[in-house]
Amino acid sequence: MKIICVGRNYMKHAAEMNNPVPQIPLIFLKPDSAILKKNKPFFLPDFSNDLQFEAELVLRISRLGKGIRKGYAHRYFDAITVGIDFTARDLQKKFSLAGEPWDLSKTFDGSAPLGEFISKEKLRDLSDISFYLDVNGERRQTGNSSEMIFSFGDIIAYASRFYTLKTGDLIFTGTPAGVGPVKKGDNLIAFLEGQKVLDFFVR
Ligand code: MG
Repeated sequence: MKIICVGRNYMKHAAEMNNPVPQIPLIFLKPDSAILKKNKPFFLPDFSNDLQFEAELVLRISRLGKGIRKGYAHRYFDAITVGIDFTARDLQKKFSLAGEPWDLSKTFDGSAPLGEFISKEKLRDLSDISFYLDVNGERRQTGNSSEMIFSFGDIIAYASRFYTLKTGDLIFTGTPAGVGPVKKGDNLIAFLEGQKVLDFFVR
């Protein structure tokens, strides 16, 4: 399976990173070895001194598809959760300044903690899904699918021009403003429509 990720999909996050608002989705992939499930702890890697959280809505692909039209995109995922797109910000900046691919800063082992999926049918409106992230009991990020620059349909239509989507693939749909660093001992808890879906510690 593969994990398709979208960068800069919220206006305020693009602004806080001093990045321009993209005209087309910015896509990158994480390998399956990035996934952390069942609230397992995240171990800080030794190659970064600025490891940052990015809470994101994550779609679970439930059908094979290629060249999917936007209007049919909702048929290709069956569940949603919140995941963290962990980013070694110092490495990402270093690679970006050098004009090099920054994959390593976002795709390392454990860089994709994944919450418990909630069936799409249980959500009343896919274009109005709220989520938030608490770190040590303090609200750090809040987002809503209505604030995304590229909707679920836009992302699926665009990505499936390049990649065949397969059952079990995941799509990380981008992070809202408020990203920040983690340190050993931090407790990250994420909620989707008020329901806790993810709860883990940084070790
Ligand atoms: Mg991200």
